[in-house]
Amino acid sequence: MGTDLNISKTHQWLSNSDQPTIISGPCSAESREQMLRTGLDLAKDKRINILRAGIWKPRTRPDIFEGVGEQGLEWLKELKDITGLKTCVEVATPEHIDMALNWGVDILWIGARTTVNPFSVQILADALKGTDSAVMIKNPLNPDLKLWIGAFERMNNAGITKLAGIHRGFHAYDNKPYRNLPMWEIPIELKRILPNLPVICDPSHISGKRELLHSVSQKALDLSFDGLMIESHYNPDIALTDAKQQLTPKALAEMLDKLVIRDEFGTEDFEQILTVLRHEIDDMDHELFNILSRRNEKTQLIGKYKKENNITVLQLERLRLMMKDRINYGEELGMDKTFINKLLMLVHKESIRIQTNIMQDK
Ligand code: PEP
Ligand code: MN
Repeated sequence: MGTDLNISKTHQWLSNSDQPTIISGPCSAESREQMLRTGLDLAKDKRINILRAGIWKPRTRPDIFEGVGEQGLEWLKELKDITGLKTCVEVATPEHIDMALNWGVDILWIGARTTVNPFSVQILADALKGTDSAVMIKNPLNPDLKLWIGAFERMNNAGITKLAGIHRGFHAYDNKPYRNLPMWEIPIELKRILPNLPVICDPSHISGKRELLHSVSQKALDLSFDGLMIESHYNPDIALTDAKQQLTPKALAEMLDKLVIRDEFGTEDFEQILTVLRHEIDDMDHELFNILSRRNEKTQLIGKYKKENNITVLQLERLRLMMKDRINYGEELGMDKTFINKLLMLVHKESIRIQTNIMQDK
């Protein structure tokens, strides 16, 4: 997959500090009073770098609150002027982009329901050409990493280099206990493929409820995410959208107090000990591979022997007994049962592949 994107190397457009970037503000701008009461309280906390607000809301069904529109940009501008904080909003059409830029919004973001549609992303990229805007792209609703990367490529082709990803989880019917499944492996792979790209986690839309916000945020920080976007409202219970997942600015500050921010790299002593431990792991992995390759040789012998004697590859009773024995043995060693199961299935599948090949003279 393409790794040659031209992504701005400095992330100062997000924040000047080396601490995680914290973005907060209401799910939706609702009134001037709500914006000021929420935003002014947020601004008292120096950890908060950027104010957010939903101006046009992508609602699942029509005829409900769909955002206040351009008026909300005026309130956000007022807050920006008072607090000096940067601002960001979701844009889904070229008209949204024009209005947001006219009202001095610093960063635009593309929502999950837009990222999913390459036509829409291309229309936004065309509208942004020549603007040097900063753009954050939320993951698409479905867990499709290529589609997410494609959106960055479209922006990059339009000359946009101040780019960041926002991980907001993925739609699934079996989503408990989340609103959107985190599927952490997808943003991790995004970071691996695009190492310069800052990636922010949006625990609000992953969690869907206040109780999960802390653990999801901590996990994101432990996975070296570059920041958090967390929705807040001076009185979440009366919020017109996403009431269950918003925090008051005070509750947000308390949650941030509880988060442990770990360093990605340690002192020289720490790194030396880590290197020794990693060498030990490297040796163990090599040992594991030697054993697995000897196991495969033994499997080949068994395959040939079965073939000579006209015996089937699969013998269910043997599989059942083997699984039972290995699970008992592994559990005695303190290993996790799900892990043992997955490992055994993989090893057994390889045995079947080797023996089937022998039967078919491959
Ligand atoms: C939002 O941030 O309020 C929003 C609508 O997010 P998403 O696109 O992640 O659903
Ligand atoms: Mn929301």
